[in-house]
This record gives sequence, C-alpha cells and structure tokens, in this order.
Amino acid sequence: MKFSNTYVSLGDKFFQRSLPQEVPSPKLLLWNNELANSLLISEKLQNDEELLPQYFSGNKLFDGAESIALAYSGHQFGHFNPQLGDGRAHLLGEVLNKHNTRCDIQLKGSGKTPFSRRGDGKCALAPALREYIMSEALFALGVPTSRCLAVVSTGETINRGLPKLGAVVTRVAASHIRVGTFQYFAARGDVDSLKSLLNHCIERHFPEVSSAQLSAEQRILAFLEQAIDKQITLIIQWLRVGFIHGVMNTDNTAICGETLDYGPCAMMGNYDEKAVFSSIDEYGRYAFGNQGQIAQWNMARLADCLLPLLLDCRAESSDDISSKKEQEQSALAKVETLIHQYKGKFDEAYYAMYTKKIGIEEVSAASKLLVDDLLSIMQSQGLDYTKTFHLLTQSLSNSDKAKILQTELASWYDTWLSALKKISINSHQNYLNNAQNLMADNNPIVIPRNHHVEVILARCEDAVTDNSSPQMIKDTINNIVGEFLSVLRSPYHGVNATKNYQDTPEDDDKYYQTFCGT
Ligand code: AMP
Ligand code: MG
Repeated sequence: MKFSNTYVSLGDKFFQRSLPQEVPSPKLLLWNNELANSLLISEKLQNDEELLPQYFSGNKLFDGAESIALAYSGHQFGHFNPQLGDGRAHLLGEVLNKHNTRCDIQLKGSGKTPFSRRGDGKCALAPALREYIMSEALFALGVPTSRCLAVVSTGETINRGLPKLGAVVTRVAASHIRVGTFQYFAARGDVDSLKSLLNHCIERHFPEVSSAQLSAEQRILAFLEQAIDKQITLIIQWLRVGFIHGVMNTDNTAICGETLDYGPCAMMGNYDEKAVFSSIDEYGRYAFGNQGQIAQWNMARLADCLLPLLLDCRAESSDDISSKKEQEQSALAKVETLIHQYKGKFDEAYYAMYTKKIGIEEVSAASKLLVDDLLSIMQSQGLDYTKTFHLLTQSLSNSDKAKILQTELASWYDTWLSALKKISINSHQNYLNNAQNLMADNNPIVIPRNHHVEVILARCEDAVTDNSSPQMIKDTINNIVGEFLSVLRSPYHGVNATKNYQDTPEDDDKYYQTFCGT
C-alpha cells in the first residue's frame, strides 16, 4: 500500500505519535476483498496469509505509514470534554483509492495511546465484527459510511467484566476529522491551527468550495453550509433505513459526512420515534426521531468553532472600522443564519425521502400528509418499519399483501392508492409499475436486524475461542458471517438466503441493549 500523510503535515498539535502495541498471535478473520480492490491493494499482498495479519494487527508497519493518534475534544451527551483523542486507535496514514479519493487507514483496538486515559486501548472481538457487519450493511444500503477492511483476532484476552478475546479492526474513512477536532483547537484559542484544519478539510472534502472564487469569510461560511448539507444527507439516509446511531457525540460526527463509530448502534424494528437501544442513553437524547435535531445541534457546535476564524478575517480587513462587539455579533448572525436554515432544508429532504418510500416522486402537501399519517399509524400500532414499507411495495402487484395492509392501515391504504392513481392520470404513465420501481429502490427488503447480528456474533465468539488452526478459524468465521453478509450486500434484491434474515424478533427487541463498543 502506498501511504501518504497529509494530516501529519498539519503539525504535531494535531496528534501524538504512537505505535500499535504488539500482539501475541494475530489471525485474520475477515478480509474485505471488494474494499481492498478499490484501495488498489496488490493481489500479492491480499494473498499473503502470513503478512496480512501482521500488518492489520499493527505488529508490522507498512513502509511510508506514520502511526499517530488523533487529538480531539467532544460534547458527549451534551457535556463538553476538552481532552479526548484516539484512545485505542492508530491512524496509519492515507492512501488514494481507485477513484483517486484520499482514504484514511486506521487500526482500532491496537493498544494504548497518549489519549487512552484509563482505557486499555483494546477492542473485543464481537464489537470489531459488529462494526464490520453493520458498516458493510449500511454501505450496501446506500448510506454514507466509513468501512472495514479487516478484522484480526489478537490472541489476547482482555477484560470486559468477563474475559473476552481481543481484536483489531481496520477502518477506512474519507477522514477521521470530527466536529470535535475543531472543538479541540477552538477550546484552546488556537486560531492558527483552526485555520490549517479548515483549509485541510476544504481541500479534502469540499472541492467546490476550494475551487470557487470566494473571500476568506465566504469560504468559511461555504464550508459550514456544505458540512451541514452533508449531515442532513447522512441523517436522512439513516432515517430511510431505520438506523439508530446511538452515540451522536460531536467526537463521533465526521466532517466528511460518513457514519463513524458503530459502538452502540442498532436498527429500528417497530417504528418508534423514541426508539433507543444504547444502555448509556438514559434520557433518549439519541433516539431514532431525535437524530435530525441532534445533528443540527452538532453543527451549531461546529459553527461556534468557526466564529474566531470569522473574526480573524475581519481583523485582517483594514477597512473594517466596526467595534469588536459589532464584529462578534455580525459573525454570530452569519453562522446563525446557516444553522437556522437547517430545519427547512432537513424537512425538505425528509419529505423528499419519505415520499419516494411511498412511491411518489414529487413532494406536495398531499404527499406530506400521506407520509405523516402513515408514520403516525405505524407509531401508534408499533408496526415493523422495514416490513411495512416492503409490504407496501409488494402490495402493488400482490392482492394478498394488499389485503393485509388494508386491515393494518385501514383507510390510509385506499387514500394512498387513490393518490397514486391521480398522479398517473396527470402523467399518463403506468402508475403501479412506476410507483413500485421507485419504492423498490428506496425500501430495503432486508436490514441487519439486531437479533440476527447478535446470534452471528455469539457464534463467532464461540468459534474463535477453540484452538483450531488459523485457516480453520478463518473458514469458520467466514462461513458464519458469509451468508449474512451476502444477504446484507444485496438489500434491495433478494438472494437465496434473504428469507432467513427477514423475520422480526419474537420479543420485538423489547429487552435489546447495546453498549459503547469497548
Ligand atoms: P467512543 O465511545 O468509542 O466514541 O469513545 C470515546 C472516547 O473514549 C474516544 O476518545 C476513545 O478513543 C476512548 N475509548 C473508548 N474505548 C477505549 C478503550 N478501550 N481504551 C482507551 N480509550 C478508549
Ligand atoms: Mg468515537
């Protein structure tokens, strides 16, 4: 792999140099071929069973990699922690993928760093596998996300209340720069570093801003606007598929707009705006239906960090004679305008997305009402989210499914059909076919349901604790996970085994809990 390290060139305030901790017996459990190919990893390396576990446990460093732990702060459940940073991850560097896009390659669970505080720097096997499975599922569903290249078991036993096998997961992301990275420098009043970080982000993630002819102030505001747009796109996609991130702290909010940190995530079964599965989210701050508002709050925290940069532009402008206070108020007003625009943009994207889920291309007052009414029926009756939208799609060509829905959704169903018919009269098209195609593209037929994920992880843990050869363990893990992954990688078109994973949990996930992935 050909590494470069543009982040390192930002200077040593941005990270601490730290090497992965050596592990006794690394074994490669999962390898993401498709991702490896897109990262242009040579076939020679991909087939080297000796070297892969060495590299992707951190025992051996690639030539050109400069292992670092990133510095960042973060609001965790609303409370600011000025000193977080990678406590159990090592960024090896960046590689260019086949689309010439720069990607971070990071090991997670690879041992203590200067930011570890009281943590052991390790990751248990099940959360590592969980991140691999969930991120692969989200990627296939069309949700922006970081991805996993490899999972390697380390041969170490780590303490998580119970003894657990350790693992290292290799995460690939457009970058690991977070809202919390900006907060780290803003909290320290380090305007120069904020400037470097902003420029790095614009170059890397916002080429339209980079290439536009803008004043310094316009550039900062354009960056904020685009960062906000990326968050809206992300959250709308989470909502579309029923994903609950579970820990939307600002240190887990990637500026590039990818899903980052799969610790306590879960999929929603029965539609419930208040759905929460994370054991530490006591007050439901990160509940399914709160995610849009929380992303706005997180973007307001990013905006806070940009204020000193806006003031700095003013200070540099010799013809600005307004007082410091006036300048502060003016800067605040500008970022507030963008933060306030969030709600309107989000609502627009929300209805555009849900309208498609019910087979209608154009948003109108009537289609919004249909969406609101459907969600409120689903909420009050606790209907399964994925199954209901899938049934709706099928019902357009299957009268048995239509009958089920006529009972479940009562008059809503006929109102919806009439709305589809009305659209077709206006457009003279085959309305059922068109609507069904649109719905099939927007409603997954299968998602990584929590109960299936847990069974698979438990089976993997059992398989790895026995003393088989590395090859046997790898084969067993791939047998256990392989079928599930093949289904999850085709979420809109059934494959042979899809039906094995479409069932809803017997207990409606009533007792299901997730934990921050330690
Ligand atoms: P997370 O909940 O995964 O977003 O982690 C929040 C912070 O805690 C980050 O700075 C992590 O690096 C750190 N952290 C989480 N688990 C560990 C661990 N086992 N050892 C050291 N640091 C950790
Ligand atoms: Mg995190």
